[in-house]
Amino acid sequence: MRDTTALQPVAKLHTFSVTTERAPQFLDITDRVQELVDKAGISQGIATVFTRHTTAAIRINENEPLLLADMEEFLKRLAPKDLYYRHNDFGIRTHNMTADECPNAHAHCQHLILGASETIPVVGGKLALGRWQRIFLVELDRPREREVCVQIIGL
Ligand code: ZN
Repeated sequence: MRDTTALQPVAKLHTFSVTTERAPQFLDITDRVQELVDKAGISQGIATVFTRHTTAAIRINENEPLLLADMEEFLKRLAPKDLYYRHNDFGIRTHNMTADECPNAHAHCQHLILGASETIPVVGGKLALGRWQRIFLVELDRPREREVCVQIIGL
């Protein structure tokens, strides 16, 4: 733990990658975020966990295997992959097309109700999460490499 009497603020952006295996998939990244908080050496502050993706989300919830399966099913019911989406209609779509474009409008729609970040208070050098709270990267599109950004600010 740093000597907080020195009051030197810490502000640093860290990134790490995770490999996803299916979609939807909840990957618990809490321990990796806490490791970064440990290395930052702050006592009080905040950690913002952010993803720069539009089809992978960051969310806090409970890591209970049956619940994770329930939440994956919930996301599938909310925006099923097999519906018609304009974003997937490459015959009419002209914007943001890439060589490896894949039909993923359902993943964008699911992401809309989840979100790209969570901010967690750091108290006594630890993420101040509740007893059942864990931080997840939520894959919504397809198995791939994903980047997680963690900005840690504090004293
Ligand atoms: Zn897309």
